[in-house]
Amino acid sequence: MDAYFPSTYEDSRARFLQSLSLIQQKWHSTQLETYPLKNFHGLSIDWLWAHAPKKETLVILSSAEHGIEGYVGYALMKIFIEEFAPRLDPENTGFLLIHGLNPWGMKHHRKVNENSVDLNRNFVFDGNFDSAINPEFHLVEKLINPQRRIESFGLESIRYWVGVIRTLIKPGMAVSTRASLLGQHHTPNGFFYGGTSHQEGTAVAMELYRRALEEYQSVIQIDMHTGYGPRYQMSIIMSPLDPMTSEETSKKFNYPLVLKINAQEFYDISGDMAAYYYKLRNKNFSDRHLFACGFEFGTFGSSLPARIRSLRAMVFENQLHWHGTKNARIVDQVRKEFDEFYFPSETKWREKALADGRQAFEGILHAYQLI
Ligand SMILES: [Zn+2]
Repeated sequence: MDAYFPSTYEDSRARFLQSLSLIQQKWHSTQLETYPLKNFHGLSIDWLWAHAPKKETLVILSSAEHGIEGYVGYALMKIFIEEFAPRLDPENTGFLLIHGLNPWGMKHHRKVNENSVDLNRNFVFDGNFDSAINPEFHLVEKLINPQRRIESFGLESIRYWVGVIRTLIKPGMAVSTRASLLGQHHTPNGFFYGGTSHQEGTAVAMELYRRALEEYQSVIQIDMHTGYGPRYQMSIIMSPLDPMTSEETSKKFNYPLVLKINAQEFYDISGDMAAYYYKLRNKNFSDRHLFACGFEFGTFGSSLPARIRSLRAMVFENQLHWHGTKNARIVDQVRKEFDEFYFPSETKWREKALADGRQAFEGILHAYQLI
């Protein structure tokens, strides 16, 4: 398994860079490009362009939009490079692999970036980071953003559960899910903070996505994520802006679980990457074909208790970051739970993640007649 799942950001990046020579055997002009973060020496966003002479289709894979999720993201990229790229036609199919959209978060095992911004809430198309998008946020703020130091894991868990029960009674499940996960642009220390300007990683991705549509007739984009959904079943998450329904997509790709980013099937998100990409295509490249999706590898599970535990992992990690604790054991407990939520250690989980990724690549590339 270690062959697939890197142990550090540096390890992942080194492995990614090593794949250049393998890809160049078939895509001779493959280029490596790098964007070093302005304020963090040794951290960069790196990508490989494998261009086809006839620019018909481009496949884009990206990892670590949510930093810590980049470890599983790299594993999937490796599978694509080793098992699927060799089956593509280098004459008319190119690909763009983006490693570490949020390298700071990946290195420090955080989901957000160095400015506490969730990049998947930061792809605001019109540049209007509207602080009014999530008026219900304050209804859940006490639960998801406690303003205190963690004195004891047990005591804090009890307080969390009391908060959960209170929130489930009022404002209730639907409102609290929406208010927690939609994103917001006013509370930097509250999570799912979408920032007030485009972040470095977001700007890099936006520029690459524009170049992709300028150059290729058809673009298929897949962004790697972990955390949401059933424990042993990856979900393909697609934008509500795509005209296909999730049922149609599931059939087309011969893949069992496809969900749209909306309140009925997944949850609502404001400022997500896929929506940005469809808006860009619709506005400036209406003659191009685009399919943009995410692979979302579920970890704790999708039952109500599992979702409550998932939220607790996020709340405690954020609380620890902002308010700290005096007790080193609590740091370990909180960090371990957070790591398990986004990068599970269980071999069975990792094997199934790879198997699901293979199945989805096979289905998608086959559906577009690329393999
Ligand atoms: Zn994610």
